[in-house]
Amino acid sequence: MPELPDVELFKRYLDRTALGQTIRRVQVNDARILGDLPVERFAAALAGNRLEASRRHGKHLLVQLARSGWLTLHFGMTGGLSYFEDLADDPPYDRIRLDFEGGRHLAYTNRRMLGRVGLADDADAFIEAEELGPDALDPAFNEAAFAAALAERRRDVKSILMDQALLAGIGNIYADEILFQARLHPKAPVEGLTKSERSQLFRAIKDVLATAIECSAGAEQFLDRLPKNYLLPQRDRDGRCPRCGQPLATLKASGRTSYYCPRCQREPRS
Ligand SMILES: [Zn+2]
Repeated sequence: MPELPDVELFKRYLDRTALGQTIRRVQVNDARILGDLPVERFAAALAGNRLEASRRHGKHLLVQLARSGWLTLHFGMTGGLSYFEDLADDPPYDRIRLDFEGGRHLAYTNRRMLGRVGLADDADAFIEAEELGPDALDPAFNEAAFAAALAERRRDVKSILMDQALLAGIGNIYADEILFQARLHPKAPVEGLTKSERSQLFRAIKDVLATAIECSAGAEQFLDRLPKNYLLPQRDRDGRCPRCGQPLATLKASGRTSYYCPRCQREPRS
């Protein structure tokens, strides 16, 4: 589930809790989350090191280490961070725990283990190696850059939005919201969009992601804080279109369910 807005909030959480702290030791509770990276190497790189700065790119959170290198965090479907003082508060599904000098802890939790924790020498090289496109909220990702990303593509617009190599940060849930706000059908072929539809889509990307962050994506009461014309609170509850009242429709593609309004988001004529 964590998409760009959720990971941005993880970044802000880390910045106001663990940033600037020195790691005393590292507890790896489940080495699978490290992939091929040996636990000893991971622990040695972090022990005695300080969390210096953080950076988000798409759904990845990168934490610069004072000595050298970066800690990389990807949250998959169920990942998160938890900062606490008392070990009795260590949350379930804690896969990696950083114990800081001064006694506090930061846990990387992940129930379904679909994320990844690792190390990188350089943040930009990591982003390139992961084949990530520009971050969707980066100001450098402007309408011209969006047009360039869409050029020569012949696919449905939803799969384009979710393609991390074209544009990093958007997953299934925010793709649906963006398409609803832009009034585009998930299966609309991108090559058939008019110039004004492309502009509308670009604005919806920026607006929806920024609004979700402002409304504290993922936090309690998040759905109630969203604007009244948002689709997201109506998902998974046989909801109706907040704009026209029509029952929402769903369609399945690549194992993911899309929610949309069949009246506001017309299926393109083929
Ligand atoms: Zn509608």
